[in-house]
Amino acid sequence: MKILLTNDDGIRAPGLAVLEEIARQFSDDIWICAPDEEQSGMGHALTLTRPVRLRRHDERRFSVTGTPTDAVTMGLRRVIDGPPDLILSGVNRGANLADDITYSGTVSAAIEGALAGVRSIALSQVYAREGAGDASSFAAAREWGARVLQPLLDTPLPKRTLINVNFPPLPADRVRGIRATRQGFHDYSRGTVVEGRDPRGFTYYWFGLEQIEHTLDHGTDLEAVDEGFISVTPLQLDLTHHSSLGTLGERYS
Ligand code: MN
Repeated sequence: MKILLTNDDGIRAPGLAVLEEIARQFSDDIWICAPDEEQSGMGHALTLTRPVRLRRHDERRFSVTGTPTDAVTMGLRRVIDGPPDLILSGVNRGANLADDITYSGTVSAAIEGALAGVRSIALSQVYAREGAGDASSFAAAREWGARVLQPLLDTPLPKRTLINVNFPPLPADRVRGIRATRQGFHDYSRGTVVEGRDPRGFTYYWFGLEQIEHTLDHGTDLEAVDEGFISVTPLQLDLTHHSSLGTLGERYS
């Protein structure tokens, strides 16, 4: 089984090493093509206004000076001979739950894989405390990753669908199990805007991630992680709101 690994935290991110550990439990045919620098929050951006560079770190490990989508594109078109059987994106440092997924480079890399017709899975480790940086723990992902992935390797997945996995911020032995979930929704828009002054006296703004309020609707990814379970959500790329289609059609008739 040929597996392409990528992420949005960059080629040097600890979570990518965790993902490689997990993937090696299934195959030795592992290829890595990840962004050169952290690209969290870049969503499904594709670099169009400047060239990207492909850097070779060893025979099967590459980085791209661009977004997660750039990395998957280069992985599929320039790095690997023939399509991989599986694309794994992560393990992201931080949650990709509910509406987070529209911002997520981690999930978007899996979206790019799904668009290319490859089975694609995004993995994210929720952390308990903001600001842990590289000290964030990937314990739950490391211990449970293979168990979560095993059934996903041969589960039939329709075209243009992908899987979004989130590990709760718990030591591995306190994780309560794995739940199939639907996407939840946060109650209001993202985080905070922090204002500061740079060394030259100019004002800058920096978007912060604070604990976002949400209602823990039953069956959602948010509820599962809150209750100590690993969340496994099937996602689809058809964003059409089908029940509004008729209404809208009538307005234009
Ligand atoms: Mn990230």
